[in-house]
Amino acid sequence: MIKHLTLGASILALAACSPSDPKSDPVPAAEQAAVATPAEIHERLIVLDSHLDTPANFSKPDFDIMADNPSKLGQVQVDLPKMKRGGLDGGFWVIFTPQGPLDAASYEAAKNAALHRSDEIIQMVESHPDNFELAYTADDAARIVGDGKRVVYQSIENSYPLGTDISMLQTFYDKGVRLIGPVHFRDNQFADSSTDLEANDYGGLSPLGEELIREANRLGMMIDGSHAADSTVEDIMAISTTPIFLSHTGVRALYDHPRNVTDELLKKVADDGGVIQINAYGSYIDDLEPTPERKAAIEAIQEEYAEAMKEGLTDEQMAEFRERYEAIDAEFPPPMSTFDVFMDQMLYALKLVGPDHVGMGADWDGGGGVEGMEDVSFLPKVTARLLEEGYTEEDLEKIWSGNMLRVMREVEAAKEQ
Ligand SMILES: [Zn+2]
Repeated sequence: MIKHLTLGASILALAACSPSDPKSDPVPAAEQAAVATPAEIHERLIVLDSHLDTPANFSKPDFDIMADNPSKLGQVQVDLPKMKRGGLDGGFWVIFTPQGPLDAASYEAAKNAALHRSDEIIQMVESHPDNFELAYTADDAARIVGDGKRVVYQSIENSYPLGTDISMLQTFYDKGVRLIGPVHFRDNQFADSSTDLEANDYGGLSPLGEELIREANRLGMMIDGSHAADSTVEDIMAISTTPIFLSHTGVRALYDHPRNVTDELLKKVADDGGVIQINAYGSYIDDLEPTPERKAAIEAIQEEYAEAMKEGLTDEQMAEFRERYEAIDAEFPPPMSTFDVFMDQMLYALKLVGPDHVGMGADWDGGGGVEGMEDVSFLPKVTARLLEEGYTEEDLEKIWSGNMLRVMREVEAAKEQ
């Protein structure tokens, strides 16, 4: 790993314009750049996160994207004031659908919910045209940030709502979706999930899942291997003509969780030209043992909803479940991981595959549980730490958005014209 000179250069530049040497020449522009503080460097980069679960908050009556919502226990981690404080320029805003039964009526309900969620994202942007803009291509990011607005790409987490009709992918593409993850917590019609290995139905992608990947290639959509079983990730890489993208995933060498990737798989992802965006979800990166009181409260609520979950929760039940869960969080706070544990994940991935293949997908508003990363306003700390570790502004440009946009450009170039 090359250690670069950002900090060393800044010390030299400071020495050159020391006030004790009044005869020193004015500092040339290049050296002025070198003396930028970590905060200034962070501010001038395009900073994107590839997994913002924030749209799940849009229908909550007490949530306002323009307000500094309370971030107790990290439940509201993204809103405009926090984005401004954290220098977050935007990213992929997620259309998430929980996994339900594989039958026609459930597919229909899931499809309608996902289309509605996409409408809500579009509506949020249209309601605040001075602050947000919908983005469709890699080039859109720099233009939108240049106009002083936040970038809103759309992504799908769990392709379950497509049912068995692959042509629905075109419908979502037309609405602006540019990143698609086949599967979530449980195996579905497309693929095996990393967290449902007992069933292991297909040993990777199903035949329909293979069709999904080809259709995403045809349309020009990035393919998200997060939540997918290792075998599914391998299948995606074998079938897709474009590099794989892991929008929010950790490394298994530091914490053995099936949501994380092994060194071997991560190297294959990098060889594929792909990118891992590091997750900051406490319980995926750290062994967090809840108190007995919290454990009991969670078991009770899970038992209560077990039957309904088998059928798939309605929106109303989901909202109620979430509210009850939040009440448990307030009474018996969850154990937290730490900023250092998160940074260890990122630094490990950087050392293993280099700064061309690592970025940030922290699972904001879908995860949490990391002390010192309670919401997006803490992002400049990541930049400061990476500079301390010897990574340059050029590296940081790639980590914060360049890698993601490079994959997006490759996907755009490969699509059928
Ligand atoms: Zn997720």
